[in-house]
Amino acid sequence: MSTIQQNLQDVRNRIAAAAQNCARAPEQVALLAVSKTKPVAAIEEAIAAGQRAFGENYVQEGVDKIRHFAESPQNGELVWHFIGPLQSNKSRLVAEHFAWCHTVDRLRIAQRLSDQRPAGMPPLNVLIQINISDEQSKSGIALAELPALAEAIAALPNLALRGLMAIPAPEADYQRQLAVFSRMNDAFLALRQRYPQADTLSMGMTDDMAAAIAAGSTLVRIGTAIFGARDYSQA
Ligand SMILES: *Cc1c(COP(=O)(O)O)cnc(C)c1O
Repeated sequence: MSTIQQNLQDVRNRIAAAAQNCARAPEQVALLAVSKTKPVAAIEEAIAAGQRAFGENYVQEGVDKIRHFAESPQNGELVWHFIGPLQSNKSRLVAEHFAWCHTVDRLRIAQRLSDQRPAGMPPLNVLIQINISDEQSKSGIALAELPALAEAIAALPNLALRGLMAIPAPEADYQRQLAVFSRMNDAFLALRQRYPQADTLSMGMTDDMAAAIAAGSTLVRIGTAIFGARDYSQA
């Protein structure tokens, strides 16, 4: 078994254990493999091990990989998520190539994504990014802004509002991780009351996936635990 295969199996086991610990079914937590900075050979190994959903942070790198795998026999099953910060001038590439965008945090970007989504493609699945703990970060909206942005996005024709995403500030303590993720879950449950099609709460990374799952995450975004540490020096 390759390292990536083994790592994927370990991550799936960790997800299942975390779910069972809080009486959730493991199938309620999907695994997004975050392949940013990793070569296509690493993604190929993950595909061979049964992984189908991949997350990319950099638009051009992601589009290059999507184009590469358009030739692969599994292409019809692969689902590509854009999870990085999105600038207006890159929105067209996301609208044209990805199935999901997790980082919508202003109406202007949402409008561009909807306008630029090609006819004939299904609506782009979008998550609204919430700045849940890190006041320093420029990404994500405050919870107070969520109702208005959700309403505006839900009205856009070529987007499907699927839920919320957060990247909390790094925190080593499990109980504190849980407290932050629980605030996200409260907001998610309130959103679902109004938009029943919003079925996705994207939270949890390599170092905080157990707390995220305990708090209600439906999609964990895991890079390091699958592909190993990232090397940014080549970028
Ligand atoms: C890089 C990244 C991840 C994966 O982080 P790991 O700690 O390597 O699991 C998840 N989500 C986002 C938005 C990221 O940028």
